Amino acid sequence: MRKKIIAANWKMNKDVKETSDFISQFRELMKGYDCPAEVVICPPFTALHVAAKLLEGTEFKLGAQNVHYESDGAYTGEISTRMLKSIGVHYVIVGHSERRQYFRETDEIASKKVKKVVSSDLKAILCVGETLEERDSGATENVLERQTREGLSKLSIEELSSVVLAYEPVWAIGTGRNATPDQAQDAHAFIRSIVAKMFGRESALNITIQYGGSVRPENSAHLLSQPDVDGALVGGASLKPDSFAAIVKSCPFGKTA
Ligand code: PEP
Repeated sequence: MRKKIIAANWKMNKDVKETSDFISQFRELMKGYDCPAEVVICPPFTALHVAAKLLEGTEFKLGAQNVHYESDGAYTGEISTRMLKSIGVHYVIVGHSERRQYFRETDEIASKKVKKVVSSDLKAILCVGETLEERDSGATENVLERQTREGLSKLSIEELSSVVLAYEPVWAIGTGRNATPDQAQDAHAFIRSIVAKMFGRESALNITIQYGGSVRPENSAHLLSQPDVDGALVGGASLKPDSFAAIVKSCPFGKTA
């Protein structure tokens, strides 16, 4: 069975104290719950270290929200995969629409980052998704195909197993307007078909595809019950321990490896 993953993307929120308060409360809320999904928490860089310490000995994994594709060198303000690994990071979000939109990250940059992340023995969460304009003009599939193909273009079939995809329609991020479960299912099935064309059916069946975009405790179970929706990437609703715990606990699926 495909791995199910629920990840919290805190974006530019929470200092060290807020991070440690969140993790203590979240651990308390999750006590005794046999979680069917892998839970990943992605704080900002400055809180990764404290989060790593507080997550030690738990089954929850630590993720970063970005990374550079070079190993080291004169890249002021950037962070490398080696630095992330050294403090216990497991996952790195790549190609989030906010990075594409505000920091001009292209598919080429995303593909270099994905390659660097997986070749550093970390797992990449590659985000893809169309804008409202693209959806309204009927370009959704073209955009998803391009972002998926280019994002995965540098990978071998073995490396693909260290990648998680996240379908995040841009019009649903932070807007309170989530994709309907049917819209999410259609997009996920389409993305999986692209992975099948690139890497074969087996790899496509095995890849985890998360949905992201205004996931909340009230809509998570319905979204997550779609056959091709293998988890969630949660922004706003992951900032409060009780709402994030409620989303994790709403997972309708059984325990996965
Ligand atoms: C995100 O940041 O990836 C996201 C999906 O945000 P939100 O849940 O707030 O829409």
